[in-house]
Amino acid sequence: MLCQIICKSARVAVVTFAVSYCATATADATAIWQSTEEALAKTVLEQSNVVSDFIKLIDDNFISTTDLRLEELKVTIGNDRVPHANVDATELRLPYRYFTNAIQSHAELEESREAALERAIDTVEFTLYHLFGHLIASDNSADSDDIAESVSSWLMIKGFSNGGEQWFSNALAFGRASQLLDGPLEDYWHEHSLYKSRQNTINCWILGSAPKRYSNLLKPVLEPEKRTRHCIAEWNKLDSDMQTLLRDNVRSDSSLITR
Ligand SMILES: [Zn+2]
Repeated sequence: MLCQIICKSARVAVVTFAVSYCATATADATAIWQSTEEALAKTVLEQSNVVSDFIKLIDDNFISTTDLRLEELKVTIGNDRVPHANVDATELRLPYRYFTNAIQSHAELEESREAALERAIDTVEFTLYHLFGHLIASDNSADSDDIAESVSSWLMIKGFSNGGEQWFSNALAFGRASQLLDGPLEDYWHEHSLYKSRQNTINCWILGSAPKRYSNLLKPVLEPEKRTRHCIAEWNKLDSDMQTLLRDNVRSDSSLITR
């Protein structure tokens, strides 16, 4: 089976990740790459830098522990049935079909093909960070979704200067796509569909992380000051919880942790 692997190399001076290809069955490989749809998905995903930015974020901020070899983290985009975290291999696996499925869903919602592609990329990014949360939880089941939601939101909001805006866009894109259940990935969409309360939780974290910055991004409410106070407290709790949960996994010079 041919798959594209974007893998973290051991820490070396310049190269922090490499794109490589592995082929263990030529016949399968031929069949896979004959699909123009998947070839397009591969090109668009590579150009979006969603995976390479994620790998760099992990590389810059995380170290390996006995339980979790994050310095060997791999993201594989290939032929799986559904997205999942392979805890034993420290690997996040996303099917190309997941991306093409997201494009189809957003094509029903967006006016232009370009917009549908952008939203599909946001959907994949949301899922990639979510899977990292499942890796941290060492559990792919829906029972660990609260942890996955917390870890992924904290990492994106705190890890990037525009993380709040991006996470808002990602969660919205994922929530919309998951409403349009379709195809073989229906199980994943269904299990992970973002209910309104969950979306509100994410938006509250974003607002609480930088209230002045994000007050225009989120819809006005009747009591904005009360909401802001509440969301600041919610963000501070998330930040504290995540720093405790991930303390052993984060590099000593990482800005994610207050030492
Ligand atoms: Zn999940």
